[in-house]
This record gives sequence, C-alpha cells and structure tokens, in this order.
Amino acid sequence: MSKRDYYEVLGASKDASQQDLKKAYRRLAMKYHPDRNPDDQEALAKFKEAKEAYEVLSDEQKRAAYDQFGHAGVDGQAGGGAGGFGGGGFGDIFGDIFGDIFGGGGGGRRGPARGADLRYTLELSLEQAVRGCDEKIRVPTWDSCEVCHGSGAKEGSQPVACNTCGGMGQVRMQQGFFTVQQACPTCKGEGRVIKDPCTSCGGQGRVQNTKTLSVKIPAGVDTGDRIRLAGEGEAGMHGAPAGDLYVQVAVREHDIFQRDGANLFCEVPISFVDATLGGELDVPTLNGKVKLKVPAETQSGKLFRLRGKGVTPVRGGGPGDLLCKVVIETPVKLSSEQKDLLRKFQESLESGGNRHNPRKSSWFEGVKRFFDAK
Ligand SMILES: [Zn+2]
Ligand SMILES: [Zn+2]
Repeated sequence: MSKRDYYEVLGASKDASQQDLKKAYRRLAMKYHPDRNPDDQEALAKFKEAKEAYEVLSDEQKRAAYDQFGHAGVDGQAGGGAGGFGGGGFGDIFGDIFGDIFGGGGGGRRGPARGADLRYTLELSLEQAVRGCDEKIRVPTWDSCEVCHGSGAKEGSQPVACNTCGGMGQVRMQQGFFTVQQACPTCKGEGRVIKDPCTSCGGQGRVQNTKTLSVKIPAGVDTGDRIRLAGEGEAGMHGAPAGDLYVQVAVREHDIFQRDGANLFCEVPISFVDATLGGELDVPTLNGKVKLKVPAETQSGKLFRLRGKGVTPVRGGGPGDLLCKVVIETPVKLSSEQKDLLRKFQESLESGGNRHNPRKSSWFEGVKRFFDAK
C-alpha cells in the first residue's frame, strides 16, 4: 500500500507554517486518538498516519528531505511504515508530543502549577451533624501575597518572559531523530522569570497564613462526608489558581444514641415491674422526650421502633427511625424488707408451676436432654 502525501494527511499546504501544521495535527490527534476511539482500527490507522506525518514535517531537517525526495527521503530514517516509529510503540512519543495536548491545559504555555488541595477534618456532635450548623474553622495554608498580588515580582516590577524558551515554558531538544519537548529548565515551565523578587513572599507570590473560614454544614451529614470549598486550598505559586479545601466530617460518639445511616439506636433501661405490668416510658429523641407504650410481659432486649424519629439524610429521602431496645435492670441495694418481699413473690411464682417462666422451664428441659443424651 502506497503512503499518502504527508501534507495531504494533515490537510495542510506545502508552505504551511509550523504553527499551522501543529494545529492541523492536534485537530486530527484529538479526533482519532485511541483513548477516544476504543477498538476502532480505522481511527487507529488514521491516528498513526497523522502522527507519522507530523513527526516528519515538524522537524525542519526531515521536512526538507521529504519535500525534496518524498517518502524515500525519510523512510527508514523515521522507522518507516505506518506501524509506528522506531519500534517503540506510541507510548514514548505520546509522552513528548502529546503531553502538551492532553495535559497542561490544552497546549501552549504551561504556566505555574495550581495550588494544592487541602483536607480538614471537622469534628461535630451528633446534634450538629443531624441539624446542620455554621462552623468557623482555622486552616493553616498558603495565601496569595498581598504585596505583589501573587505575581512574586517586587512592587513596581513585573515578571518578564523567559529568554530561554521565549515565554513558551517549553524547549525543544533534538534527541536522535526526534524532537522532544521538555519543560524549560530556566523558568521550570512557567514561561516567566522574576528578576526582582517581592521581598514579602520571597518571589513565591504566596505567604504562609492561617485563615479562618466559615463552613456551612448541611443537615444530615455523617462521618466520611466531604464538603468542597472551591478555591479555598493553597494559593498557587506566582499567581496560579488556588486548590480546593475539602472539609471531612467526623461525628463524635454520642452518650445515648448510635447512628446507622438514617436510623438512630438507643438502649432504655426498664424495671422488671414495668416490663411485667406494662406501662409508659419516657424515651429520648434528638428533639426532646416522647412517650413509649410498653406492653405487659415485655422481655428484655425487645426492640421498639419509633417511626420518623431518626435522621433525615443529607442526600435526601425521608427521616429514618429511632430503635429503642428495652433492657430490664436487675434491682440493686435492696433492703432486707424488699428482699423478703421478693422471696415471697418467688414462692408464689413457683407454686404456679412452670406457667410464669416458660422460657426458663424449657431451657432447663433442653439442658437435661443434652446431658441425658451423653
Ligand atoms: Zn509577594
Ligand atoms: Zn523558560
């Protein structure tokens, strides 16, 4: 299969400037890139074809050879064929030539890097998490320098374009047959240099600071939820945009309630008399006390569900339930008179046979069978 003309491949004229070739190539690369066309062999072929054409035409030496001798002038040199360059696959070339297309904000000058994101862990009580609150937090961070307004240059002066890279932030280096683009060593990719640094920030454009922020916590948050405050992270170097601040919620343990998603859980002690006769208990909720009717003959550990007395989750949905587990409390510190009453009571229970303690009776029978079977 004969190869198409490289200019035709890129859709460029013979006298196209490097800028135009790059633009044409970038358009094709974006269109046919394998990441955007998974499993599309035709797109992959087009992508490789465009890459080969640009690889040759972007190098003035190879371009001259191609202009004079056609494919014969560059084949073999460039690795030949549509199969790729130098047998290295497209991964290595990708990094150099595509780096400024798919990374670094769409090509051209790179500029200084955005500031780092910050994470702040905010401890809340259960009540605060459930109801929502406004919290003031103090975050140690980097802030934009007020003296130079982030530029890093001394008052009255400006950062100037870097001489080494002409302000592009990148330099092209010849490595064998390939032209490799690298971050400029002089300006470290920023494209600008500061001749006269700001004395307040030492030329960084930012200063260390502790800032106080107020954070609005929505009702219903739980441990592990994150609130993003855009642009409240560290200021970037030399006036670059700031990172974000992530406020991570951690809810403290509560004395009475445990939370499980939208539901709350609590234990309620109850006297054996109330459990036996039944009655009304005062049960705490996050919005005050409510009455819970306990039926007669309630056993220890029974769970009662109070609908809608749980938490309304921050991501929507109705409120959960409050689950109350009643636990019978054994009386303590009894007087001898009270103990006598209990002994009499016990005698009267036993005179009724097994009727009053069915569970205990069947349990003992089970134990007896267990030993008899041995
Ligand atoms: Zn400054
Ligand atoms: Zn430079």
